[in-house]
Amino acid sequence: MRTPIIAGNWKMNNTINEGLKLIEEIKGFPRNGEAETVICVPFTLLSEAKKAIENTDIKLGAQDMYWEEKGAFTGEISPLMLKELGVEYCIIGHSERRQYFGETDENVNKKIKAALSHSIRPIVCVGETLEERESHIEKEIVERQLLLAFEGVDKKKVENIVIAYEPIWAIGTGKTASADDANDMISFIRQTIGNKCGDVKDKIRIQYGGSVKPENIKELMGKSDIDGALVGGASLDAEDFVDLINY
Ligand code: PEP
Repeated sequence: MRTPIIAGNWKMNNTINEGLKLIEEIKGFPRNGEAETVICVPFTLLSEAKKAIENTDIKLGAQDMYWEEKGAFTGEISPLMLKELGVEYCIIGHSERRQYFGETDENVNKKIKAALSHSIRPIVCVGETLEERESHIEKEIVERQLLLAFEGVDKKKVENIVIAYEPIWAIGTGKTASADDANDMISFIRQTIGNKCGDVKDKIRIQYGGSVKPENIKELMGKSDIDGALVGGASLDAEDFVDLINY
């Protein structure tokens, strides 16, 4: 039985005061507690957010990290620094990092290994562009991203990874993949993990991401292989986010 996981990706939104207000609002709504809840906040909010979620079941996540522990890497944040702040999850390879900041599959692979070796659970994002889907090569693309991401990763640690299937054309656009299409790709991802890593495929959690809203979460979560959602826009509204958690 895989525990569902709903993770909010706040992206570059919320100052400390705004973020703390949002956390208080989230805490103010009743949650049914079935899904694991994660908020991936900007680096500047990690420390205060950790204090604000103390004594709740909300987990803290970051949105990126570097793979080295320390050194001359100006502007980067290391897994050691995240661990010190109580970070349990870290998004790795989000399409916005791939698209705007030159994140490569090789970098993603190094970051996954670094996160796992510091007991931070990576939320690894994969997904195709609209052009790739229209050319019917979306599975090829996602398979390649996965195989490169998982290259050399310790098989015993694979179950600590969460994968987020996020078709790029669905992120922040209001267009959602149909629940059947999302499930079809997520089943394919599970099979690909099975071919590479064996039975852990049945334990690893795979989320869908891309314009998830209270109106479509139930149908997505009703599908056999979808274990949760990575949520951008709707995670910035407390009531919507809690509706997603309580799907
Ligand atoms: C995301 O940022 O990972 C995402 C899925 O965004 P949105 O929910 O806004 O499409």
